[in-house]
Amino acid sequence: MADPRPLLSLEAALLRLRQGADARRITAQETVATFDALGRVLAQDVRSLLDVPPADNTSMDGYALRAADVAAIGAVLPVAQRIPAGVVGQRLLPGTAARIFTGGQMPLGADAVVMQEQCDALPEKPGADADVAPGLGAVRVNTPVVAGQWVRRRGEDVQAGATVLPAGTRLTPQALGLAASVGAADLPVLRRPRVALFSTGDELVMPGQPLKPGAIYNSNRYTLRALLQAAGCDVQDLGIVPDQLAATRSALRRAAQGNDLIITSGGVSVGEEDHLKPSVQAEGELELWQVAMKPGKPLAFGHVRSPGAEPALFIGLPGNPVSSFVTFLLAVAPVLRALQGMPDLEPPAVAMRADFDWPRPDRRREFLRVRVNSSGGLELFANQSSGVLTSTVWADGLLDNPPGQAIARGDTVRFLALSSLVWR
Ligand code: AMP
Ligand code: MG
Repeated sequence: MADPRPLLSLEAALLRLRQGADARRITAQETVATFDALGRVLAQDVRSLLDVPPADNTSMDGYALRAADVAAIGAVLPVAQRIPAGVVGQRLLPGTAARIFTGGQMPLGADAVVMQEQCDALPEKPGADADVAPGLGAVRVNTPVVAGQWVRRRGEDVQAGATVLPAGTRLTPQALGLAASVGAADLPVLRRPRVALFSTGDELVMPGQPLKPGAIYNSNRYTLRALLQAAGCDVQDLGIVPDQLAATRSALRRAAQGNDLIITSGGVSVGEEDHLKPSVQAEGELELWQVAMKPGKPLAFGHVRSPGAEPALFIGLPGNPVSSFVTFLLAVAPVLRALQGMPDLEPPAVAMRADFDWPRPDRRREFLRVRVNSSGGLELFANQSSGVLTSTVWADGLLDNPPGQAIARGDTVRFLALSSLVWR
């Protein structure tokens, strides 16, 4: 029997998925300590009320002075003060230097720093002025000096009033550091997306249980749950749902309650003993698609009603472990972004050299598991079957190959790093 389902490009599928997500954007905000904000999505711009750094300071241990006072290499200046980091010194008198340490604020009147490696510390300069502090000695400068050298300027990182992190930013470790550098002790973030997850398949057994004849261990539950957690979601894990209509319907009703999104794996391929399809149709609405991609052809999309609340989005991923992993990265991650009002992001592709031949491409767009080798080219995992999870651990990324495109050694291809896909 011919498959009645439409064959969609990944782009067309993404358009539909994003429309569904846009309609139920998360707007609720909460304030969390900056310490606890890793992976969260900013709900409002973070603006700085101050300049960073707040004052000119030295990027070297050495001597702060006026460049004009070093007319020639070998000039000797009395050291008039000592400025460790955190201390504000006195105005620098003409013809003197200040001992200064990295991060120390530049004294007024100084315009350059000479690093200590290019100086000699000397005992008191003979005949030094009485108003120069005793005991700090003098310094001989063994290098030409240019005004501004080794000085970090006030506001060179951030200027007061600037937006340092726009709303919609995923808070990385470095973003937390930047927020802290402008004094933010806590941050306004969106509430986490709430996602229900279940696996279908009577052949599935949980690790820790003996493997019955005909059974396999449930791996998708681990992969998908961890991907959702890595994407900053609150996951309600409903475990394995038996291949039965009543059980599937009741799992869907439970999953819809209080969740933005329901993710399932398995039960959406052709000829399946398929209880997901009638169950979603009974509890909401469903579109079954064949996406023109490999792995990951079958994909189900719809929503499930939730009494007294907005329906939950539904995405049914294929059961094959590589397929569900790849479709999560390419189709679910963008939905999670859209749900949180984050800007649409093309997967960050890099042009790279293929160090292998791929003479028999598929008619669908392929996402091959590849690895970067030490000469900067890509190697192919030998077994590209959608059941071979080993390939996803071996790989650094996916080679995004256009439909029907054969690859010859040396060709330039499109590479998508897994790291950049997992945390978008
Ligand atoms: P399905 O999409 O249900 O037809 O499943 C396709 C293939 O993926 C079958 O070989 C299933 O046994 C396998 N599979 C489905 N769900 C899982 C799972 N949670 N973990 C590991 N393999 C699975
Ligand atoms: Mg199944």
